[in-house]
Amino acid sequence: MSKRVPLKSLSKIERKLLKAARKVLERAYAPYSGFQVGAAVLTKEGKIITGTNYESASYGNSICAERAALLRANSQGHGDKCVAMSIVARNKSSPNNGISAPCGSCRQLILEAAQRSEIGKAFKIIMGAAKLDKIEVSTIGRLLPSAFGPEDLERDGSEEKKKGD
Ligand SMILES: [Zn+2]
Repeated sequence: MSKRVPLKSLSKIERKLLKAARKVLERAYAPYSGFQVGAAVLTKEGKIITGTNYESASYGNSICAERAALLRANSQGHGDKCVAMSIVARNKSSPNNGISAPCGSCRQLILEAAQRSEIGKAFKIIMGAAKLDKIEVSTIGRLLPSAFGPEDLERDGSEEKKKGD
């Protein structure tokens, strides 16, 4: 699903993207879970837009960093220009320095952002541990295969969806 890579294997802009997620992680609002996440979206023009998770005492209202970054990108006029994302997570209450992949809801929104920018399944997702000593790289196509998308809304039911699409 994702591949472990050294930091130096990333391009300059990918390293910048990952570091932006690491930096904004410090602003994550996660008083309930202690699980802090920073995300950064890269646009076609090389602009980087960040987001953090934002929790609520009414847990279901909480929003993930990945979606926060996509919503910010959209509100700034870049909703159809997103081509890659980085994600850095840290569990404040544990020394565990692991990598966190996007949740299912975020994968769905990332895929649709990738379709809007026309990069599609190649949309790169770079995931780093908080110390940036562990990095994994994947694509939305690998993280969300056989996805539901806008084309499914137009299907009239007379045809079977092809497996693997
Ligand atoms: Zn999520």
